[in-house]
Amino acid sequence: GATIGILGGGQLGRMLSVAASRLGYRCHIFEPGAAPAADVAHRLTTAPYESESALRDFAASVDVVTYEFENVPAASLDLIESLAPIRPNRRALSVSQDRLDEKDFLSGLGLTTAPYARVESAEDLVAAMGGQDRAILKTRRFGYDGKGQVRIGAGDDLASAWALVNAPAVLEGFVDFTAEISVIVARGQDGAVAAFDPGLNVHREGILRTTTVPCGLPARLIPDAVLIASRIVTALDYVGVMGVELFVTPRGLVVNEIAPRVHNSGHWTQAGCAVDQFEQHIRAVAGLPLGDGKRHADVVMENLIGDDIDRLPDWLAQSETQVHLYGKAEARPGRKMGHVNIIRR
Ligand code: ATP
Ligand code: MG
Ligand code: MG
Repeated sequence: GATIGILGGGQLGRMLSVAASRLGYRCHIFEPGAAPAADVAHRLTTAPYESESALRDFAASVDVVTYEFENVPAASLDLIESLAPIRPNRRALSVSQDRLDEKDFLSGLGLTTAPYARVESAEDLVAAMGGQDRAILKTRRFGYDGKGQVRIGAGDDLASAWALVNAPAVLEGFVDFTAEISVIVARGQDGAVAAFDPGLNVHREGILRTTTVPCGLPARLIPDAVLIASRIVTALDYVGVMGVELFVTPRGLVVNEIAPRVHNSGHWTQAGCAVDQFEQHIRAVAGLPLGDGKRHADVVMENLIGDDIDRLPDWLAQSETQVHLYGKAEARPGRKMGHVNIIRR
């Protein structure tokens, strides 16, 4: 059978490899860090991206390469791509690696984003702030879980805000949203698009806490959200699963960011759908037909972060609750240790 290569050995890589093995594929995971969560894969290589021989061996051993992590260096991708196709494609990856390119791409499609400006110095920040009383300064690259972001209020010292970031950045106007939702969308090699129901996302300290389906928002917003997600994947000639984060505002939906991979806010699909986001992604990159995305249960997904894991016995005792653990040895503050999918219907 075919072998699927996965760049990144975190929990997403782990759950992708479980879905792949259920479909009869083997997985070879490449992980540059230590103690990968995805040590359940058929084959695991832990080596730095600078190790050309390890990358070459990885790419030569697989039929297709996908990723759970979008910040793979371009030179490593060039080497991999000379030996195996990368899905989703390089354009999707480069657009989503850089918040400025991402916003230019989204607004180029006619979609609404937060107002934004490029910031490369304290002077740029002063100019970009203009008369706004609230904004968020975000590094263009490498941010996740709210890292690399500074919130700026009226009267804040802009020089020290810049000093905290001190890297190519974008300033985003503050969006006064009433809710945050996400659409987990998939596009197959034949161009077919299937979306899961939008989920309502609640964050705490910049980290996703819960996702709830159904999202409870006015029904008319749902086709809007799904259409936005479909336009994005189609414009990128995308193959795989993408997470599209949206703000709900009185004036309509605003696109926050896109993730060219399976997404934490899609974990509910494991309990809510016959074909979950991980299987859907594997189907897409392997060239199989997609599942339809139909939801058969109401679900609340709750992340187990840091010492939330101490409540594991309670979760295990709950009925109608699916427990997922990532096999991480040490519970550090802010570290995602697992999640639970609580079935409500
Ligand atoms: P993720 O872990 O989802 O990749 P991230 O670090 O890339 O997160 P964002 O999604 O850009 O960060 O921002 C994190 C959270 O901060 C958002 O979910 C939202 O709650 C809030 N936020 C971000 N941008 C804005 C904005 N322009 N206006 C208001 N709130 C915002
Ligand atoms: Mg992000
Ligand atoms: Mg986000």
